[in-house]
Amino acid sequence: MPNSAPTALLSIDFDGTLVDSRRPDPILEELSDTLDSLRSQGVRWTVNTGRTVTHTMEGFVHHRLPSLPDFLIAREREVYLLNNFNRWVDLGDWNHKCEKAHVKLFRKSKKIIRAVREFVTKSTSAQFIESIEEPCGVIATHDDEMDTICRFIETIKPAAGDLHYERNSVYLRFSHRQFTKGSSLQFLAQSIGVPPSSVFAIGDSFNDVTKLRRDVADMIACPSNAVIEVKSHVIKNGGYIASSPEGEGVIEALRHFVSLGQLPQIALCEEA
Ligand SMILES: [Mg+2]
Repeated sequence: MPNSAPTALLSIDFDGTLVDSRRPDPILEELSDTLDSLRSQGVRWTVNTGRTVTHTMEGFVHHRLPSLPDFLIAREREVYLLNNFNRWVDLGDWNHKCEKAHVKLFRKSKKIIRAVREFVTKSTSAQFIESIEEPCGVIATHDDEMDTICRFIETIKPAAGDLHYERNSVYLRFSHRQFTKGSSLQFLAQSIGVPPSSVFAIGDSFNDVTKLRRDVADMIACPSNAVIEVKSHVIKNGGYIASSPEGEGVIEALRHFVSLGQLPQIALCEEA
């Protein structure tokens, strides 16, 4: 990564935004060229995903990304920088603080988590996940089942406490309210000296809402395949809803903010 100060920072969700994860297609060539063009003008970009680092890298290979992003926000809360040896390394002490906060949180929230586990295993067909990599999560069999689980959690979880959860379709992960896609993006932008007015954020699901905020990113958008709740949120906050899905929607949203003068011109062979 060059040392000069970035002119803007793009935060792009992976599944359902950068790529259509239901299909094995490679990332759109036009999207990749667009990102390269912006990058050549000092713009930096990060994938901001619920996937782990390993799972994200598998996704990059699967969808044949020709070049890696400058940064990676994984598990909705870990911030990594790509070093000169093409390795993902911690950016500052954020990941360390994040890990410590989660250990403490899960210890403190045992009672609530036990109640959720009991509800999930006895009253639904969903799977409760408890592993070293994922200490506290749920995989539902369909969206309606996850809606039911979320409603249950809302009835027992203190509204203002640190215990929070991130939902991405049928996947749910408990987390600390202070470590989200939004706060991670804010930390990254501050660390590299990019003000919120020069941050672009796009995503399609519930777990993207924390970054689709104008105090985090002044340029907010979602692709046309975004869930209705995300679309309503983006409209309410003065963002841009693309008329195309996934990668095409990302290109469209980037062009929108280029046309407003908030991003540098994209040097591509435009349509006549
Ligand atoms: Mg997504």
